[in-house]
Amino acid sequence: MEAKHGIDFISNDETQPRLLPRSGFFYLYTMTYGDKLKDERWIKKRLSILEKDGFKCKNCLSRLNLQVHHKAYLSGADPWQYPDYFLITLCEVCHSEEEYYKKAIKEYSDSLSLKGIPYQDIYKHLQKKEINGQR
Ligand SMILES: [Zn+2]
Repeated sequence: MEAKHGIDFISNDETQPRLLPRSGFFYLYTMTYGDKLKDERWIKKRLSILEKDGFKCKNCLSRLNLQVHHKAYLSGADPWQYPDYFLITLCEVCHSEEEYYKKAIKEYSDSLSLKGIPYQDIYKHLQKKEINGQR
């Protein structure tokens, strides 16, 4: 999915850095990612994804240590602002594998780029490969 699909979703949002009153001044309040994962809006969103996925890992069907994975990141979006199709229930093991391969692909493509292969060619090559499995 292209990131642009997320933009409408983000625009009507009241959660970007907020101005909070303090001692008669306003200061910019920015949540850390850790704060965001404790936010009530994420807790609700996370639960709705777990429910949608039947409280099972969508990869291996495990019911242990379930986590909600963001399949892709939208720049500037808070974790709860993602459309549901960006989110998937994975167990801790499948989640760490998924993150590992995501990072590995980025590092691999960067290493090819350093060898002088343009990203355009890396992209075209990846597009030609048949991808199996729909989650
Ligand atoms: Zn799993």
